Amino acid sequence: MKSLKLVILVLLLIYSNMNLSQKYDLKNLMGIDDSHIVGDTIMLEQNTLIAFNKMHEAALEDGIDIKIVSGFRDFKRQMLIWDNKYKKYTAEYKLSPTKAIEEIIRFSTVPGTSRHHWGTEIDIIDASDEKYKDEEDVLLTEKYENGIFTKLKKWMDVNSERFGFYLTYVNDKNRKGFEYEPWHYSYKPVSVELLNIFLNNDISSIILTTKMEGKEFISKDFIQKYISEFVKGVNPVLLP
Ligand SMILES: [Zn+2]
Repeated sequence: MKSLKLVILVLLLIYSNMNLSQKYDLKNLMGIDDSHIVGDTIMLEQNTLIAFNKMHEAALEDGIDIKIVSGFRDFKRQMLIWDNKYKKYTAEYKLSPTKAIEEIIRFSTVPGTSRHHWGTEIDIIDASDEKYKDEEDVLLTEKYENGIFTKLKKWMDVNSERFGFYLTYVNDKNRKGFEYEPWHYSYKPVSVELLNIFLNNDISSIILTTKMEGKEFISKDFIQKYISEFVKGVNPVLLP
């Protein structure tokens, strides 16, 4: 019995020391396999969750209750977001398929390419004031710049990096890709390596084999631009 425990302990030690490229395969990075995720109410990659809990505790001391509105998101959920937006933009807003896709990728990713699949990304609000519950849409830039989450944003500007969290889509006019998202942070100690592993995959084939709405309007040129400007269009400190 004792030796069995020892074997388990050694195996656990080996597993925790494996480098990330051994722990993560493409199915993890695309949100198809969630074996890299821990937690039930807050679902994140384990080191991200530990760091988040520390940051949450520190913010509470300053009267801010950081609440994750979106952490890990799986492939199916991202597909649903994409398809719903595509249907809305083409049927309701009467946009052409190409325009609809351009509109979707202002804020949303092609399924399988969301950093939320990795469990290292968090979209956050401040839940210390219950007024946020009356808001129809909480993730709007003005709420962080000059609104109910300004105190949170200011606190994050000063403190988030000492816990490993960096804004992913920074407000820099030279940055291409997704728009500025003052609510979206990345746990850098893990996500830099995961982006590196992801970029070493054939992302074109991933997109070409994904069956989302409007897929027939996605060209090879679009995919090249999407990889160089959107997948790589993050805060430069988060690049491998
Ligand atoms: Zn996000």
